[in-house]
Amino acid sequence: MKRFEVVQADSVEDCLRALAAHGREAKLLAGGTDLLPQLKNGMLAPRYMVDLSRVTRLRTLDVHDGLRVGAAVTARELELNQAVQTRYPALAESGALVGSVQVRNLATVGGNLCNAAPSADMAPPLLALEAEAVIAGPRGERRVPLSAFFADVRRTVLAPDELLLELVIPAPAPRSGGRYLRHTPRRELDIAVVGVASQLSLSDGICARARIALAAVAPIPLRATAAEQALEGRPLTAELIEEAAGLAAEAARPISDQRGSAEFRRHLVRVLTRRTLTSALARARS
Ligand SMILES: Cc1cc2nc3c(=O)[nH]c(=O)nc-3n(C[C@H](O)[C@H](O)[C@H](O)COP(=O)(O)OP(=O)(O)OC[C@H]3O[C@@H](n4cnc5c(N)ncnc54)[C@H](O)[C@@H]3O)c2cc1C
Repeated sequence: MKRFEVVQADSVEDCLRALAAHGREAKLLAGGTDLLPQLKNGMLAPRYMVDLSRVTRLRTLDVHDGLRVGAAVTARELELNQAVQTRYPALAESGALVGSVQVRNLATVGGNLCNAAPSADMAPPLLALEAEAVIAGPRGERRVPLSAFFADVRRTVLAPDELLLELVIPAPAPRSGGRYLRHTPRRELDIAVVGVASQLSLSDGICARARIALAAVAPIPLRATAAEQALEGRPLTAELIEEAAGLAAEAARPISDQRGSAEFRRHLVRVLTRRTLTSALARARS
């Protein structure tokens, strides 16, 4: 590993100053669970690491009307927060699936999204919850819907002089339910071969809104919009859920690799979409 200098940031302004001064030679360091392996295997060799751990603005976890999740909130905090468990269960479930307890105590939501792996577990529930990314840069703050945040494998719309501040999530409508499930060959310490989040809300027994998001089946985490549209405005029968699961499988653009063939992944999207929709429906009704 090449030597680097650590810049200790105490505020968002410190981070922005360091990024402006060191440009592409600097990397932001949150929990380091993605970054340090990348340094060790030589994928990256930054000259400066800007440590975010003392930037309190990034640690907000505020459940009021909606939810604000600071970029440096950890997977473990999402997993254990009771308000998140109750109001945004799919997000708490995704936090609970990341790595081991030791990894979850370090792994942040900002790091998970900014690392932009197609398999990032926290991306699908946040997409299904219609989160907006709040981004800080030298020209002030801007907001980007999370559906427009991922540009390609390991690439986001963040400029080199910008950082992710927080995710803003609207309050769930009454009679809403969500679920996140993933498939991994091992029960723990494995990355998703496929991940699916579903979020539903009901009105008079009809599906008022449906959101379905998929991970590990395309270069970026993505929404299955045709499947969502098939559900909205209709009563959620088992047949309709099966139809939507088929449409979600069609939306997937998986590759074949050593972890699973494209055909297997498409099959998993169908199965996990059916399961997450059925479970989200039961939660919305309870
Ligand atoms: C053993 C192990 C198991 C794992 N299991 C899983 C798993 O099950 N599911 C899963 O999804 N991931 C898993 N991961 C990957 C990793 O833990 C997560 O992606 C984690 O959320 C990354 O967060 P971090 O804070 O450690 O990010 P870091 O490693 O600190 O940063 C990751 C990237 O994001 C950038 N970054 C961080 N914060 C910001 C910010 N605020 N603004 C802009 N850029 C920023 C960094 O510069 C870097 O490029 C695992 C990793 C390990 C080592």
